[in-house]
Amino acid sequence: MKQLSEYFGCMVFGDSAMRSRLPAETYRSLRETIDEGKRLDLTVANIVANAMKDWAVEKGATHYTHWFQPLTGISAEKHDSFISPVGDGKIIMEFSGKELVRGESDASSFPSGGLRATFEARGYTAWDPTSYAFIKGKTLCIPTAFCSYGGEALDRKTPLLRSMEAINRQAMRILKLFGHDDVKCVNTSVGAEQEYFLVDREMYNKRKDLIYTGRTLFGSNPPKGQQLEDHYFGTIKPRVAAFMTELDEELWKLGILAKTEHNEAAPAQHELAPIYSTTNIAADHNQLTMEIMQQLAAKHGLVCLLHEKPFKGVNGSGKHNNWSMSTNTGVNLLSPGETPYENAQFLLILCAVIQAVDDYQDLLRLSVATAGNDHRLGANEAPPAVVSVFLGDELTAILDAIEKDEPYNALEKTQMKLGVHVLPRFPKDTTDRNRTSPFAFTGNKFEFRMLGSSNGISCANIMLNTTVAESLRQYADKLEAAEDFNTALHELIRSVIREHKRIIFNGNGYDDAWIEEATEKRGLLNLPTTPDCLPYLIKQKNIELFERHRIYSATEAKARYEILLDNYCKILNIEARTMLEMAKRQILPAVSAYTADVARAVTEKKAAMPQIDCTYEQERISELSELTAKMHSSVKELEEAMQRVKSIVDVAQLSCAYRDEVILCMNSLRTAADKAETITAEKYWPYPSYGDLLFGVR
Ligand code: ADP
Ligand code: MG
Repeated sequence: MKQLSEYFGCMVFGDSAMRSRLPAETYRSLRETIDEGKRLDLTVANIVANAMKDWAVEKGATHYTHWFQPLTGISAEKHDSFISPVGDGKIIMEFSGKELVRGESDASSFPSGGLRATFEARGYTAWDPTSYAFIKGKTLCIPTAFCSYGGEALDRKTPLLRSMEAINRQAMRILKLFGHDDVKCVNTSVGAEQEYFLVDREMYNKRKDLIYTGRTLFGSNPPKGQQLEDHYFGTIKPRVAAFMTELDEELWKLGILAKTEHNEAAPAQHELAPIYSTTNIAADHNQLTMEIMQQLAAKHGLVCLLHEKPFKGVNGSGKHNNWSMSTNTGVNLLSPGETPYENAQFLLILCAVIQAVDDYQDLLRLSVATAGNDHRLGANEAPPAVVSVFLGDELTAILDAIEKDEPYNALEKTQMKLGVHVLPRFPKDTTDRNRTSPFAFTGNKFEFRMLGSSNGISCANIMLNTTVAESLRQYADKLEAAEDFNTALHELIRSVIREHKRIIFNGNGYDDAWIEEATEKRGLLNLPTTPDCLPYLIKQKNIELFERHRIYSATEAKARYEILLDNYCKILNIEARTMLEMAKRQILPAVSAYTADVARAVTEKKAAMPQIDCTYEQERISELSELTAKMHSSVKELEEAMQRVKSIVDVAQLSCAYRDEVILCMNSLRTAADKAETITAEKYWPYPSYGDLLFGVR
């Protein structure tokens, strides 16, 4: 077995592979493209492509693909082989700069929200040199952006890159004001902690709901769930341990800094955390991590469930997006500094985030809105649907003192003046209490905790980067025009605290009283479901924001809005139809067969002994018959609801109808079926139970 340091990143065409395989001149100009966004000319691209191909072929690759993030689903790829015929039935392996830089794909089946007329179904993919190419299986994967022929973004990478540029532009203005002329650029970094479930593959294959929808649509809770909390950080079972070991190795080969693996709160639930990296890379890596998890699970006879809520009554899975801003000189702008002056800068950046979250609660909330995540947010297992910021008591007290021009602590007599006081180091928050906060400051970064486990992290970071860029833009406008920088800075920070402190909440986010306070007293937004959220994407103030920072054009935003709503409706449609199929073809026949057997038992017992007591059987028959009737009527109601919504043309209305009518019928069908499961003899039940799934992997 090779040492980790020998194989780490061996499947990545990263900096060391580039340096050793490219002529010095080519390497230099590619580095300029990567680091400074300079245009890459075709001669350079040709040399890079050829070196990349040779490297990949040596490692066994035969194909290449432009790997991208479509608007729905994890990732997409279309494989082309390197082979090129040279006559005499011979081939050579070829890969040109043109093929590296730009790919065409018949993209008519990817969601485009009307951005591409069907007659112009082509889209093109464009190499993103800032994210390294890598080998997966026998394929060289080239991270790319995906656009329509008109240049509109059809993916999640393009706007993410645009948002990184936006925050860089505005943060640079601020840093200039603080005299940092040495800084060339500001980057955002992300570490995305990923939760997932592992279940046995054979059991999975027996459940149509898992196969079609990724979550269980039926299932009663077993006597043991997560009450004992014995799974959280518990010993890892051998099969799972084998999976995790191989997962780490595969990720390391791809240069992904997988760092910690542990069991999570729910049985069969686990978590992987990587070391943070630049947002764009973190997004690609998270996507790749999800893909590799699913592939490797299959190899171990397991299935990796990335759905936000695979099991009712058991914690669902999320993703924590740890976010920070840093300069190319290695300074974390969310880290309180050593001098009063650095602290003033830190406080301004902190204010920018606080204001961004307050001004754009809607965008942050909708960036994590999916049908799957609707089951988690606000269900007392994940942050509520109301967005707020946790700062911790100490930092909150400091902001309070600044706002009121008061001493920061009782012992200190002097007033809290910016540029005079050194802030205390904030202890890294390790307490449990803030696990309920959607957006928590954790010492030198913010942790956005509302993301669902299957969401890519791009959308959340597009919103984070863009909204913080907007706060910074406003600050830079003010400060650049100020006569006295220090006075203006002090006033600015005070006014931001005054205007936006309503978004700061350090208490228990799971508490119902908080939701009441947040909405009634503080006027914060509460958007519990995806159809509530998505219309905000095309609100005028948000379109203006996107256009100002060149993230989305109005057309692109509108297209995304439609795609996401449409996706929500499709998911619910599939779920409802899967439920109908399971109820009609599996559950009802099973319950009916069992009831008939119990009835036969009564007849046979009575035949043997006419006066015999058959209370148990009779009560069971009556209970089961009642539940059967209930399921039957629920099936009909669900079918009628599906029929009704079919006629709705407007996608926003349709999404509301799914939420208000279809989900209701699905719930009542489930309630009856789950009840029936608890009183039907085990051998009649047509698929593995929750108990089997949650405790079946040893
Ligand atoms: P905790 O255990 O308190 O959540 P960790 O240090 O384990 O904190 O970090 C959790 C995640 O946050 C990891 O993915 C880590 O790489 C990431 N992280 C740490 N520091 C930063 C930072 N400055 N910017 C972005 N992500 C970070
Ligand atoms: Mg965390």
